[in-house]
Amino acid sequence: MIEIKKDYPLKSRNTFGLDAYTRFYVEASKADKISFSLNYASYYNLPVMILGGGSNILFTKNYEGLIIRPTIQGIEIIEDAPETVTVRVGAGINWDSFVEWTVSRGFGGLENLSYIPGDVGASPIQNIGAYGVEAKDTIIKVEGLNIITKKKVELTNSECQFDYRFSIFKGELKHRVIVTHVHFKLSKKPSLITHYGNLDEEIEKLGERTIQTVRNAVIKIRKQKLPEPTEIGNAGSFFKNPLVKTSVFKALQNKYEKVPSYTASDTQVKIPAGWLIEQCGWKGKKVGSCGVHQNQALVLVNYGEAKGSEILNLAHQIQKSVHEQFGIELEMEVNVV
Ligand SMILES: Cc1cc2nc3c(=O)[nH]c(=O)nc-3n(C[C@H](O)[C@H](O)[C@H](O)COP(=O)(O)OP(=O)(O)OC[C@H]3O[C@@H](n4cnc5c(N)ncnc54)[C@H](O)[C@@H]3O)c2cc1C
Repeated sequence: MIEIKKDYPLKSRNTFGLDAYTRFYVEASKADKISFSLNYASYYNLPVMILGGGSNILFTKNYEGLIIRPTIQGIEIIEDAPETVTVRVGAGINWDSFVEWTVSRGFGGLENLSYIPGDVGASPIQNIGAYGVEAKDTIIKVEGLNIITKKKVELTNSECQFDYRFSIFKGELKHRVIVTHVHFKLSKKPSLITHYGNLDEEIEKLGERTIQTVRNAVIKIRKQKLPEPTEIGNAGSFFKNPLVKTSVFKALQNKYEKVPSYTASDTQVKIPAGWLIEQCGWKGKKVGSCGVHQNQALVLVNYGEAKGSEILNLAHQIQKSVHEQFGIELEMEVNVV
């Protein structure tokens, strides 16, 4: 049984808490239900959008089509080798519940990605990352359905074209594939990655160096640093950290001695977008019902009744001032609908 709902409210379905509607909405717990929903959309000539936990989306208007939310469950061990384990996970599983599952069994690789909101199905889309780890480090395969042909597709890690907050699903396969399952290869003898930010320091305070302690430390830091979407609407980092040529960075450094940076490659440097935004005076600024978070300049927030278009407008103003002051283009990480 599959129920396609009409004029469905999305306020509780996006972490910005934006009041938008979709013309049609369906939750599909199996691949055949997704196929049925796709046929329904083709028959009525409706555009299709996939929604996970709504934690990386900005609705600026109502959606005049069919939103499909894959709710496919299941975590299945498909290969159990002496040093590794391969798991196949349903797209509808909550990401952090899955990370908790892996850590509690001693399977390492995802502990640094603890407490990221959203569903497993969205994890390959922007190649989620935090504390020096990205989803691409453990994803070995993505299964899905092609929205146009309705045929099953499988992509290996390299076919996914993963990059910083990017994959083929944001490139040539944008809006083309519904991810149904993701395969992760995890380690039974994990080596910990703790060099990022103050992670090492927090782990020291919490005791033994295990994947469980890494998870606990990550959760502790994230709770201190990031606003909870249940308390104040937001979608995490609104912009990507820009990559600039080393020569551009050097010129910037001559002007701003303290500009923070990470080496991205031999020729490129990554600059924290939050620092650029803060330098332009945006940190903590309130514009109508939205604003820039007081502790995290990279996070735009909805103080209650903001419209998506207001937040988008604020994002454009921020992009403009960063460009005027630094000559750097900030790219949005959040998906604007
Ligand atoms: C407080 C907070 C902190 C965050 N911290 C981080 C962080 O540290 N690192 C990070 O990388 N991100 C972070 N994010 C962003 C977000 O949590 C991730 O991008 C997450 O993967 C989005 O998952 P979702 O299920 O909510 O996707 P949604 O927001 O519902 O969708 C995001 C995009 O993926 C597509 N999509 C979703 N599911 C599927 C599917 N099954 N098949 C095909 N396409 C799909 C959607 O169409 C949309 O384009 C944060 C967000 C918040 C609110």
